Amino acid sequence: METQKTKSICPECKKIIDATLVQKDDSIVMKKHCKEHGDFEEIIYDAKQFEETIKYMRYTAKPRDIQKCPYDCENCSLHQTQTLLAIMDVTNRCNLNCKYCFAKAERSGYLYEPSLSQIRDMFSSIRKKEPTCNAVLFSGGEPTMRDDLPDIVKIADEMGFEVKLLATNGYRLANDLEYAKKLYDAGLFLLYLSFDGFSDKTNHEKRNHLIIEKLLENCRRSKIQIILVPTISKENAHEAFRFIQFAAKNSDIIGGVNFQPLSFCGRMNPGERKELRYTISNLCSDIEKQSNGILKQEDFYPVPSVVPLQKILCKLGGTEMPFFTVHPLCGRATYLFLDGEKLIPITKIMDVPKLLSLLEKWEGHVENKGMKDKGLFAADMLKGVKDTIHLDKMPKEANALKLLSQLILKRDLDTLIDMHVHSVFVGAMHFQDCYNMDLERLKRCGIHYVTPDNSLIPFCAYNALGYRERIEEKFSTPIRVHR
Ligand code: SF4
Ligand code: SF4
Ligand SMILES: [Zn+2]
Repeated sequence: METQKTKSICPECKKIIDATLVQKDDSIVMKKHCKEHGDFEEIIYDAKQFEETIKYMRYTAKPRDIQKCPYDCENCSLHQTQTLLAIMDVTNRCNLNCKYCFAKAERSGYLYEPSLSQIRDMFSSIRKKEPTCNAVLFSGGEPTMRDDLPDIVKIADEMGFEVKLLATNGYRLANDLEYAKKLYDAGLFLLYLSFDGFSDKTNHEKRNHLIIEKLLENCRRSKIQIILVPTISKENAHEAFRFIQFAAKNSDIIGGVNFQPLSFCGRMNPGERKELRYTISNLCSDIEKQSNGILKQEDFYPVPSVVPLQKILCKLGGTEMPFFTVHPLCGRATYLFLDGEKLIPITKIMDVPKLLSLLEKWEGHVENKGMKDKGLFAADMLKGVKDTIHLDKMPKEANALKLLSQLILKRDLDTLIDMHVHSVFVGAMHFQDCYNMDLERLKRCGIHYVTPDNSLIPFCAYNALGYRERIEEKFSTPIRVHR
């Protein structure tokens, strides 16, 4: 591939420096040089998968040259992706002490816990942005350390957030059914369950494999759904496909798996990068091997591949929504349908490349010529979509045609939610650290922390570039006051 220029930061002094992405053997690496601290080289992606993935840059927002990026997020109006998911840290307390924690909870010596009125203000500042963000993730620390978490969820619900997620290690919900029920009644929809493996060896930080069955039971009883979120590295990579099988086996309550390759932020020792560094392309290849080719690496599509569909839906509905214009190297995802015990990737029941190119063509047409008759346009679209579906290969329950019709004609997202019992979402997002930071990715980030002074800070800047420490210190009280 051709060398690509970008900007990064020096992992030592954190100054902004030039960086290049170059091919080295079968991999793409980032090379960069700091006048003071010398040369750095970091593995980014598998070279073949990189070529395929980077094509989706055409669906992302146009680059902008922002001199102070990434150190001016609080004042910046030039960020290129609107908030897709707002993250609200509700506490930095935790009942565990994992070494890869972004939040460095407890050890910081202060308590960061926004009050309910601060939280209300923070929600209100997110809702004022346009297009409106509809999804919020409560995070921390461990949010369930707060007894008033159901009140926080309720406020989010009242303020119109449709999707309310809870990042958790699951201990409290496994042991406290009443608390789980209160959260559900307040409007909680989904647990984003940090879960790293099925044995003492692979899950040595959280050890929540020991309580998972109890947690599933309490989730079934309280009706809260789960997405498994494994932090994955070379240490637990051999279990990658097992997470997917586990989700499929419990698909009544687990909607999917969202892998997070380990990021060297927080307490992680950067010296362990050589042994543990793992990329999304490693993950996709491992899943292909471990599943004996049931799920192939090319079944995973970069996040921005859905942008043309989003744009068409907006035009049809006369509505606005934040577009998934994040950088293609940030994340990839796919869907599997269930036919009894059999797993069928979406690519087997649908010609996805054909569908994507049709959507791109239609979107271009609407952009240039407008849409005179919405009904006619939707009918034409449906006909085209139907031709991309292999009806004979589709499991009975997984009616992809019905799903797409509902989406196109009614833009009815409940259909998507109903489908989950017969399908498993598999995604991955690789959060950046100071070693692999690519400012072209950061400028397009769609996952934003909301702060008590109502700023929105891109996730990877917040955790890797000192924003977290500054904000938490500014809005914290010394921990001993609370003991
Ligand atoms: S990361 Fe985004 S918000 Fe922050 S300075 Fe860069 S463009 Fe602006
Ligand atoms: S959180 Fe990090 S990895 Fe995810 S979209 Fe933002 S910049 Fe990319
Ligand atoms: Zn330096």
